[in-house]
Amino acid sequence: MIAADATAAVVFRNATKKYGDIVALDAVDLCIERGEKVAILGPNGAGKTTAISLMLGLRNASAGSISVFGRNPRDAAVRARIGSMLQCSGIPEYLRVDEALALFRTYYPAPLPTDDLLEIAGIRETANKRIARLSGGQLQRLYFALALCGNPDLLVLDEPTVGLDVEARRALLATIAGIAKSGRSVVMSTHYLEEADAVADRVVVIDRGRIIADGSPSEVKGTVGRKRVSFTSSVALDDLRFVRVGDRYEALTEAPELLLREIFARDMPIENLTVTGATLEEAFVALTSGGKANVA
Ligand code: ATP
Repeated sequence: MIAADATAAVVFRNATKKYGDIVALDAVDLCIERGEKVAILGPNGAGKTTAISLMLGLRNASAGSISVFGRNPRDAAVRARIGSMLQCSGIPEYLRVDEALALFRTYYPAPLPTDDLLEIAGIRETANKRIARLSGGQLQRLYFALALCGNPDLLVLDEPTVGLDVEARRALLATIAGIAKSGRSVVMSTHYLEEADAVADRVVVIDRGRIIADGSPSEVKGTVGRKRVSFTSSVALDDLRFVRVGDRYEALTEAPELLLREIFARDMPIENLTVTGATLEEAFVALTSGGKANVA
């Protein structure tokens, strides 16, 4: 464990963060290996931003310890290896995109070339624009480029797609997923659970300051082990376990065989039957509500 920790990207040991009486993080143990892509999921107020602030050395833990690449996250040598995209950047809006990149590049010992940053982030056409004139999607992409500026070994993204429309979200996610394929470690917090599937190979679910699930996206889904049974039928189905979605009847169940046996026993005609794993969102809702909601 000690040896693994020394080479890990991020280690939280029994880390607690309190704001007055509020326990935002409660004795969290977390080890993120180098090269891992981790999504931190959780509802509002779960402790995601707090965990990220501790990881970046922006706040101190009330108890326990946090290390990044085996050292204090505030060490200058460590900070130079981290790129972060936070919910507020504080960058002056009168700067042009290329000026902002030039400024940020001076902060790092071995920055990526401006051209590469514009290309990777997909904002080449905005290079001469003032930040104040950027669209929401372009602005998020600029923040992403700024996070990448120092060619970081650890990329930390706090809700990177917040406020974007569906198209811009999808496009930025694809860009992040592309970067995540490189060897660097990535930590991304998000409310959009499908984003974890796209970017992360590990999902850590936080609720009320505690980790309530930790595994691959499919393991997290497997934690609740639910399947979605779905079919169409020419006759009306009077069964509260099913909901109508378009022209289909759908139910979430931990025992699809049992449910289907009941349906077949009714001798009702069913077509287009599918049985699929629950989505990450469904797994998450089930985990944070104690697994009681909407189960057949
Ligand atoms: P969201 O998804 O809404 O951004 P989050 O998971 O990032 O939430 P945090 O911002 O880490 O959650 O907040 C965790 C808890 O700590 C919440 O109860 C929040 O109200 C509280 N909290 C966060 N920052 C402060 C602060 N500066 N002072 C007091 N309480 C705070």
